[in-house]
Amino acid sequence: MITEAEIVSHNPSSGEVIGRTGLMNASDVAVAVRRARAAQPAWGALSYGERAAYVLRAREIVLAQTEEIASLVSRETGKPPVEAISMEVVPTLDLMNYFARNTAALLKRQKIDIGQYGLMGRSSYIFYKPLGVVGIISPWNFPWATPLDEIVMALMAGNAVVLKPSELTTLTALKIGDIFKGARLPEGLLEIVTGDGSTGAALVEAGVDKIMFTGSVATGKRVAETAAKRLIPVVLELGGKDPMIVLEDAKLENAARAAIWGAFCNSGQACASIERCYVHESIAPQFIELVVKETRALRQGTPSGEGIDVGAMTNERQLQIVESHVRDAVEKGARIETGGSRLHDREGWFHEPTVVTNVDHSMDLMTEETFGPLLPIMTFKTDDEAVRLANDSIYGLTAAVFTSDIGRGRELAERIDAGTVMINEVVYTHAVAQTPWGGVKQSGYGRTHGRLGLLEMVTPQHIHANALPWLPDVWWFRYTKEAGKLFRGFAHRFTTGSVLSASPLLPQIVRRLFERR
Ligand code: NAD
Repeated sequence: MITEAEIVSHNPSSGEVIGRTGLMNASDVAVAVRRARAAQPAWGALSYGERAAYVLRAREIVLAQTEEIASLVSRETGKPPVEAISMEVVPTLDLMNYFARNTAALLKRQKIDIGQYGLMGRSSYIFYKPLGVVGIISPWNFPWATPLDEIVMALMAGNAVVLKPSELTTLTALKIGDIFKGARLPEGLLEIVTGDGSTGAALVEAGVDKIMFTGSVATGKRVAETAAKRLIPVVLELGGKDPMIVLEDAKLENAARAAIWGAFCNSGQACASIERCYVHESIAPQFIELVVKETRALRQGTPSGEGIDVGAMTNERQLQIVESHVRDAVEKGARIETGGSRLHDREGWFHEPTVVTNVDHSMDLMTEETFGPLLPIMTFKTDDEAVRLANDSIYGLTAAVFTSDIGRGRELAERIDAGTVMINEVVYTHAVAQTPWGGVKQSGYGRTHGRLGLLEMVTPQHIHANALPWLPDVWWFRYTKEAGKLFRGFAHRFTTGSVLSASPLLPQIVRRLFERR
């Protein structure tokens, strides 16, 4: 049942109303979770190959409807349709293919080497079981890729899903539902509950088995608090303030192009956007000149059709944060190299791609998540200083190092506190289905994507067997004098892990086994 309240979807580049959906309340959410719970056991009992058939069918539909999907995402978010294809549809097609074909291998039973216990006839393995019902709460910036990726991983692992999409992008989420309906996914396995924060909060309270949350730090903390009261595990994919370090041996032109794409793709509204750029002082003048030149060449406008690089921002609140970060920086002495304000000459929420220099860490634009098209550039003198500046943040999602010396890049990368560090790359590894995604510090915990992300969708069950059922264990009752001697022998010899060291215990073990107790 849907309540009378509704969510109105707007096109952020024109303000036009493009759709209305219901605002679902706690009892609607409870019904959805019940339906998902009822559908899951039969789904969990299917083989990976059988589940993959549904995902691959859905993938075919996505491929056939690429243009329609890109246009919808563009209308709901303000990003250019081509960018919706490159940053959302292409990665999801790849991820659907990867998890459909590889989940069986990634979640194969895993034998554990149990050392000397193995010599005693024991064996252990890990068996990966579905969790049951996974709740996915997602934001608006990649409204297609973020929820769809997690839906695919959750389904392939044998779970049912209840998705609560952002209230700003419900139409895109409903489209995901239609795709799976078209693929004949059994009823109940993908429930979509549209609504705002209250609907999301209701989902956390509704008795799901895990929450995959992507969104802001503030909401992530609220979700974690509620989940903790219910002891529900949570993955938190939160904000970022991702640094890019440009060393003096970097290929300058490419580094400059990477910086502006990293800062301005999706109008800067990516959790992994380049939000701080640190460039070696010896190359800073040329680098800044290149960045400014490339930024001025970007074409910004209403993102219909080709020929637009930067579209609108998805909501006005975010645009106001960008404006306030620019204001704060300028008041503290920063210099605007290009851009600097919103576009007042048109409807919609556009902010110019903006490059700022003369910045430092006293300014909001270097410390707080901007989530908009701002690229502040600061200089450094030594590698140590670059690492210190990169790590001087409450966030740790991704980071980038640009250098011609991959060895030096790796050495620096490993010193940076971030879930992912890319060398000569920015932003994009969310699109690499095989690699894990997630952060440290206030950027959250847990992972999505790759094997580590898939493991978030299952519970590892340890199965341990003794193939010598006729023999009692030597550590069972009764604790005789002989037992005490043997246990002390274990402490000194068995725990070394060496068969050679433990072998003198053998006669004592045999005596103990046949001891009358
Ligand atoms: P948000 O936190 O405002 O909302 C995220 C989702 O949570 C929405 O669906 C919202 O309705 C829901 N929600 C709100 N209150 C809730 C509550 N009390 N309980 C449960 N759910 C609730 O974030 P946003 O503005 O939609 O997204 C932008 C943020 O997301 C940025 O900080 C960005 O960095 C982050 N993000 C992170 C990643 C990542 O992978 N780490 C990816 C994309 C976006």
